[in-house]
Amino acid sequence: KELQNETYDFIFKVVVCGDSGVGKSSLIKRFTDESFSLDLKPTIGVEFATKTIRLEGGSVLKAQLWDTAGQERYRAVAQSYYRGAVGAMLVYDTTFGSSFDKIGYWLDELEKHCPEAVVMLVGNKTDLADIRAVSIERGLGFAKEHSLLFVEASAKSATGVEDAFVQLLSTIHSQSN
Ligand code: GDP
Ligand code: MG
Repeated sequence: KELQNETYDFIFKVVVCGDSGVGKSSLIKRFTDESFSLDLKPTIGVEFATKTIRLEGGSVLKAQLWDTAGQERYRAVAQSYYRGAVGAMLVYDTTFGSSFDKIGYWLDELEKHCPEAVVMLVGNKTDLADIRAVSIERGLGFAKEHSLLFVEASAKSATGVEDAFVQLLSTIHSQSN
């Protein structure tokens, strides 16, 4: 839990995007709250959660993680959602091919609204290995082609989640100074 009078060296806004149901809210909850819930309430409007981490070099970063339930389609919401974002986590569901097919759409949105943002592609739900529909090679291939960071993760089993956020935040940090 956060301290009231916490101090930090940097504050980074990160938008978490991707199709509905891929696990955006679950990944944020896992990272900021170290928990997972099967009946997470749908996000209403735009919400954000924060988490403060200390990097290996000692810098303290406060991450502001922005989540929506799809309202970023609306121009007015999109403006406040994307404005000032220095990073983006682009999530698809490894058990659901159409969520992977939409990654290009989300990248275009990011390019339009926050072209400077560092992007981490995340293939979520790897715990559901027996119904996997998108191979790790496809994820990796897309990430390479578009120069994105890439991690597979499971918000449910906690695999890869910390790694995805910390890699993204450290990359933003190393590019910002
Ligand atoms: P969002 O719409 O992108 O925010 O997705 P949610 O976080 O609400 O998750 C959608 C559904 O997928 C929920 O039923 C979650 O419990 C489930 N879910 C999210 N992440 C995982 C995961 O890593 N593994 C499994 N098995 N289910 C997940
Ligand atoms: Mg959500």
